[in-house]
Amino acid sequence: MVDYERAFDAAVKAVKAEGRYRVFADLERCKGRFPQATYYGSDGEKEVTVWCSNDYLGMGQNEHVVNGMKTAIDKVGVGAGGTRNIAGTTHFHVMLEEELADLHEKEAALLFTSGYVGNEATLSTLSRILPDCIILSDELNHASMIQGIRGGKGPKLIWRHNDVEHLESLLKDLPIDKPKIIAFESVYSMDGDVAPIGAICDLAEKYNAFTYLDEVHGVGLYGYKGGGVAQRDGVEHRIDLIEGTLGKAFGVMGGYIAGSSNLIDAVRSYASGFIFTTALSPVLVAGALESVRFLKKAGDLRDQHQERAARMKAILREAGLPVMPSVSHIVPVFVGDPVACKEVSDRLLDEHNIYVQPINYPTVPKGTERLRFTPTPLHTDQHMEQLVQALDKVWVELDLKRVAA
Ligand SMILES: *Cc1c(COP(=O)(O)O)cnc(C)c1O
Repeated sequence: MVDYERAFDAAVKAVKAEGRYRVFADLERCKGRFPQATYYGSDGEKEVTVWCSNDYLGMGQNEHVVNGMKTAIDKVGVGAGGTRNIAGTTHFHVMLEEELADLHEKEAALLFTSGYVGNEATLSTLSRILPDCIILSDELNHASMIQGIRGGKGPKLIWRHNDVEHLESLLKDLPIDKPKIIAFESVYSMDGDVAPIGAICDLAEKYNAFTYLDEVHGVGLYGYKGGGVAQRDGVEHRIDLIEGTLGKAFGVMGGYIAGSSNLIDAVRSYASGFIFTTALSPVLVAGALESVRFLKKAGDLRDQHQERAARMKAILREAGLPVMPSVSHIVPVFVGDPVACKEVSDRLLDEHNIYVQPINYPTVPKGTERLRFTPTPLHTDQHMEQLVQALDKVWVELDLKRVAA
């Protein structure tokens, strides 16, 4: 007889034994007071400062976004009522897809229920549409891209992270007339490093490959109208497909791809993860529409965001804390041990009212466990000083390393 309960219990115990059992913080964000939130802990409620949200600009509480959603709810109700094919295409969907195509200066865009679904559905579909397609994937690509590549069941090659020489050595050996997709991200969200997008485009042109860029951590934040890092670097037109999320800097929920009309029409016609699921709520779409429109014109907010991240890195360094070498808005601080990492996070929450989730395996490699801070334009100097003092105290208490090994 199979003892199902015992199997589940053993699986959880194994995770606990490795020190990477995940406990979700029970939080309630306070609209109008981001980054403050109410934390519901075992000994009651208290107010905490959130330091690890991907709502990078606080758009989740932006008045234009909130009002856009309120207006939509009063106008059309809450749900889409079906798949995009069967009654689920609302005028908000059509408008948002046009807005996203314009954001990236592409011909068309297609919405998905999340960025994860967008990557998984699109990559698996592309390898089915393109016969004998080989996917060349950066070794640190997000789980959703990996799932999509696996789902396509086509051949794949993994290239060393951001290593264009290694990528070229793999491309060189492939037949020039066979389809090849180079799949990568712009900002890698755990280290905060950025891909050499232009150099990768050079290789794509030389070897006749298609470029697939996940800009999930770049959209809204980089480029003259928030199109992402490729837009900032002036190479957006050289990218064949841009994938993004509406759930991080745009502060709402949903995912999308942008590219040529033919590409979008093909994915729309074949991707199971697009076709057979209820469309995003028009209320979410209305909010995202306001957010994209707002951030297109918010260069000042993008500048403030970069200034906050730079300041945060500088004061951590001054305090002798092991901030890792990020070139983006992401501020990782090295711990290097899963149990210690969780302990730092627990103490910050329990004793200092600071919420930052430990980042452990499998999100990052074992031995590189870290805290990942995401300062926003709404984190003040005072927030930062409180954080650094608290970190310094915990570092002393736990006798942690001061260098990022
Ligand atoms: C978060 C994330 C996604 C998934 O986006 P969601 O909208 O949250 O599903 C995709 N790619 C990367 C790199 C991400 O970090």
